[in-house]
Amino acid sequence: MNFSTDMHLDQNYPLKALNTFGMDVYARYFVEPGCRDEILTLMNYRHMVRLPVLFLGGGSNVLLVNDFGGLVVKISSKGIDYRETGTGEVLVTAQAGEIWDDFVGYCIGQGWAGLENLSLIPGTAGAAPIQNIGAYGVEAGELIERVSAVEIKTGREFILTRSECRFGYRDSIFKQELRDRAIVLDVTFRLAKFRHNNPSPDKYDGGHDCVADPGPSAVKLRVDYGDLKRELQAMGIADPSPANIRDAVVRIRSRKLPDPALLGNAGSFFRNPVISDGVYEALRKMYPAVPGYPAFSGSASHSGERTTESGKSAVSIAENSVSENESSDSGRNYKIPAAWLIEQCGWKGYRCGDAGVYPNQPLVLVNYGKASGREIVDLAHQISESVFTKFGIVLESEVNVIE
Ligand code: NAP
Repeated sequence: MNFSTDMHLDQNYPLKALNTFGMDVYARYFVEPGCRDEILTLMNYRHMVRLPVLFLGGGSNVLLVNDFGGLVVKISSKGIDYRETGTGEVLVTAQAGEIWDDFVGYCIGQGWAGLENLSLIPGTAGAAPIQNIGAYGVEAGELIERVSAVEIKTGREFILTRSECRFGYRDSIFKQELRDRAIVLDVTFRLAKFRHNNPSPDKYDGGHDCVADPGPSAVKLRVDYGDLKRELQAMGIADPSPANIRDAVVRIRSRKLPDPALLGNAGSFFRNPVISDGVYEALRKMYPAVPGYPAFSGSASHSGERTTESGKSAVSIAENSVSENESSDSGRNYKIPAAWLIEQCGWKGYRCGDAGVYPNQPLVLVNYGKASGREIVDLAHQISESVFTKFGIVLESEVNVIE
């Protein structure tokens, strides 16, 4: 295929270095558009070619089970633009292929606050709106002004505003109606300006203080999240800057999560389930220690109707089985840490061959070397079965499993 650009079509291309699980699989065809125009050019060819297509960003949220028999497109478009609004805010646009954490570091280095809690999340900027990445009390969707995308079938470009993106807990229109139908081209964030004591225009130095402009209270840094609060206390910081928050988040995440360069993984394998308050109360009666946090976005998971380990009373936990007098649903939902459920089922640190459950964070499945995608899928299946059997809660995969 000739794209009449610098793009090159490869055949039988190794994907091991392009997925953080380190799955040693191949793409029948491979192409890497390096800018927005190349993505659009590719879309024009795309509807003429009848091949399955897999789009990859950072490859950090995907489990490749087999060789891919179609075309793999790695989005590598780079570039950051910004415009000041004149009201203490800035609209910053990142091309889809920007490495997310580099982008966060760049923004903080420029004195723009908002994204600091989302430090060290793997992947690209283009992936951020898709699952509405979130961490330590902040979701990307709150800060997104608009997303520009292209429809795969027609090559038509379109723009969605924040409300049109329909962000929910780790969810958006890109995972629903637009799933497999659109590619994110760029994302624009509305961030708050901070004045630097130690300006370094394009480099994050992690240590300087920032003075809020127009004022720290207007910026509303989020430091209430338990782990983050404790880390800042341990660092001896009472009045943190965005750079301090970034440092704290980097410290927590580095301690808790494996570095994919050293140990294959795709971060959290399962989503934290969201359940209704009736189901949560029923669960608490049986397991008083179960943690739960009010969920302000996202709808309750379906817990299914199968029988659980603890018999009748446990069956009543299953969402579809909670009867009127057993449940006092008020329409409020609760997030339950999937890691807690998995640990209670005894999986923490489990290893079978080269597939395992990370000892410091049981939400993360790891490839110790030569695990196959199938082995990881089987392990995930066993884990979710045991969580359902014990708690009546269905764990959903956060990672995209490509069979
Ligand atoms: P964690 O802090 O142990 O939290 C586990 C669960 O408890 C999550 O559902 C979390 O909600 C909730 N939670 C804990 N403290 C909370 C509080 N003060 N207020 C509200 N909810 C609270 O989770 P972790 O696994 O170590 O991960 C740390 C952070 O990274 C979490 O925020 C997690 O969501 C985030 N993360 C995001 C992604 C992603 O975007 N793809 C992947 C991995 C981890 P939240 O999930 O709403 O925080």
